[in-house]
Amino acid sequence: MKTSENAIEDIKGSFRDSVATISQDGHRNFLNPKKPKGRLYNLRTRFSIFYLIVFFTLPFIKVNDEPLLMLNVLERKFIIFGLVFWPQDFFIFGIAMLTFMVFIILFTVVFGRIFCGWACPQTIFMEMVFRKIEYWIDGDQAQQRQLRSMPLSGVKLRKRITKFIVFFLISFIIANFFLAYLISMDKLLGYIQHPAENLGTLSALLVFTSVFFFVYWWFREQACIVVCPYGRLQGVLLDKNSIVVAYDHVRGEPRGKQTKQKTAEKEECNCVDCKNDGACKDLEKHIAVAAPSQGDCIDCFACVRVCPTGIDIRNGTQLECVNCTACIDACDAIMTSIHKPTGLVRYASETSIHEGKKLSFNWRIKAYSAVLLVLLTLLVTLIVSRTDLDARLLRTSGMTYTTLPDGRIANLYNLKLANKTHKDIPFTLKLENATGEITPVGSGQMVVKKEDYSNLQFFVKLNRSEVKSWKKILQIGLYENGKKLKTIEAKFIGPEVYE
Ligand code: SF4
Ligand code: SF4
Repeated sequence: MKTSENAIEDIKGSFRDSVATISQDGHRNFLNPKKPKGRLYNLRTRFSIFYLIVFFTLPFIKVNDEPLLMLNVLERKFIIFGLVFWPQDFFIFGIAMLTFMVFIILFTVVFGRIFCGWACPQTIFMEMVFRKIEYWIDGDQAQQRQLRSMPLSGVKLRKRITKFIVFFLISFIIANFFLAYLISMDKLLGYIQHPAENLGTLSALLVFTSVFFFVYWWFREQACIVVCPYGRLQGVLLDKNSIVVAYDHVRGEPRGKQTKQKTAEKEECNCVDCKNDGACKDLEKHIAVAAPSQGDCIDCFACVRVCPTGIDIRNGTQLECVNCTACIDACDAIMTSIHKPTGLVRYASETSIHEGKKLSFNWRIKAYSAVLLVLLTLLVTLIVSRTDLDARLLRTSGMTYTTLPDGRIANLYNLKLANKTHKDIPFTLKLENATGEITPVGSGQMVVKKEDYSNLQFFVKLNRSEVKSWKKILQIGLYENGKKLKTIEAKFIGPEVYE
């Protein structure tokens, strides 16, 4: 198997004409990025700890005995921040998805792939969980390469088995929580307590575990490069004003290493520290400073060595870049060591690098913002006006009206109710715009169980004097404990009236 050293060799002398993780002969260049160090890496570590706490805590939080977040695709039941969404609410769900997508597009236009580096679960688990464990077990880049190339020995076997067990266990934990987000933690714990009766669920758990294990053990950055659709959209979403992790080529070029001998011939170094003493004390570090005609990039490849997708950011924004910021930290460390200002690789837009301009609020951002605002307003209105009890009232099909022995006119109705709340709702019906009587058919149970549907058939009986034309719009009030929930309307059919 090829290694990250091969990836660097393949990058040298080429310009974005191949994928860094595939070697010239078509094999996988298996990457062993150097462990990043620096301000941004520390910040990302802190953020990911918070992120993981939220991820592993959410399935345990309940509202009214229901999970705070559940996305049960199989039963088509979705609970988002305590609100139950039913198939009837799918238009709200659709608008929410649309809003989310527009938000992602707008966000990407302005801030590039900041989501990938800071909040994508794949990056968080890969770089902040599994990669850290790998550094802990196998060591940093050099030790990992050494381990890979050494023949099978006791040490290698022990490290490989330890890593395998730890990776598998963490994949198993992630799979459990993934399932908890789908079916709720209560159900999952119930299944685990009775494994013999729930072999199907346990098989699903093992499948999920195997998928996660495969992704984090072997597939890794390929998930971002080959599979993720968001990454592939970057080409159409980013523009020259988007903020991305970028190399300042204006400042960095022409790049190049200067040999010790060449620098030594100059005898003097221009850096402030050395200038005062008249001679350079550390030629190795100060080589770039000693050559004023050269750009700031000393072609040290430190930014490439830490890159988890194996690319050279100096070749410009690339599909593989997940904006993890590792190259920023690596280059900042080099710049500091050669007494140059940091930020040769930094968050910047192409325009700001070329022209020194700040991000402008261009027409595309304005248009996206306007669409986003409209969608958000619509979404909030729909959620706020969403009722806990859905009611659909229809006259029973195939029937007109019945004249009762006492002369009253009766129509038969079907009332379908959907209770979207976590409690049973007892209800009563009342005629709002006519005098008459409502008589349920059969047991006429006037309660809708929590998260359930109910069907009720009932007659509406009106005095003959109430029916002044062959068709009348009836208004019926739906009440819970005397409190009106909503008014529903339906046609009432009677005999033709001749004046
Ligand atoms: S180029 Fe830099 S930001 Fe992009 S993936 Fe590589 S190390 Fe991360
Ligand atoms: S780390 Fe900085 S100086 Fe070194 S090659 Fe990358 S951009 Fe150039």
